[in-house]
Amino acid sequence: MSDASSGSLFMVVAPSGAGKSTLVNALLAQEPGIKLSISYTTRAARPKELHGREYYFTTTEDFLQRRAEGEFLESAEVHGNFYGTSRLLIAEQMKAGTDVLLEIDWQGAQQVRKRFPHAVGIFILPPSIAALEERLNKRGQDEAHIITRRILAAGGEIAHAPEFEYVIINTEFAIALDELSSIVKATRCRFSQQAARNAALFAQLGIHAAQS
Ligand code: 5GP
Repeated sequence: MSDASSGSLFMVVAPSGAGKSTLVNALLAQEPGIKLSISYTTRAARPKELHGREYYFTTTEDFLQRRAEGEFLESAEVHGNFYGTSRLLIAEQMKAGTDVLLEIDWQGAQQVRKRFPHAVGIFILPPSIAALEERLNKRGQDEAHIITRRILAAGGEIAHAPEFEYVIINTEFAIALDELSSIVKATRCRFSQQAARNAALFAQLGIHAAQS
């Protein structure tokens, strides 16, 4: 996002089993200035998931009505369920100058990119297909046919990696987290973000944005 009062918008995309949620949760725990956008989904909640924390869980009927009313910044069908990002929730956080992180799929990322060309795209890759399968099986939260479906879909998701500015290979968690955190920090140092956050200093120093 590029207007003067806003924070940055990050999109983190990965195939299921790449370790995306664990990485994102660790980032959020150490970076208070960044907020996760909570999506709507028609998927059933997993045992440890809470409504309003991981997702807003809803029915297909309610989802489709919200979508028809233009409530979503982006939405997509992923692994047989609908997912969508609320336009309103994002707008409120951005207005407050907060950085916002979207954990979405490649279809959603393409839609967001059209609306926010400066959104920062980060793709998380597993170190190997075997590692991805092992993580999905170990998670133990999905039934076997759902795991198979996700493994088969991984190749389709990975084919979109070239559309992203950044790629993190999640071989070692601590290194991957450090890389993710570095991307967030570097984005915050972009001229436009610094100028918005430090308007008084920039004025005092006589710095004006270059004419584009
Ligand atoms: P899961 O069911 O494992 O939580 O998520 C399945 C996939 O849906 C993941 O790739 C996840 O990033 C994606 N997803 C979650 N929320 C959204 C959303 O709001 N929009 C889109 N397009 N994808 C989402």
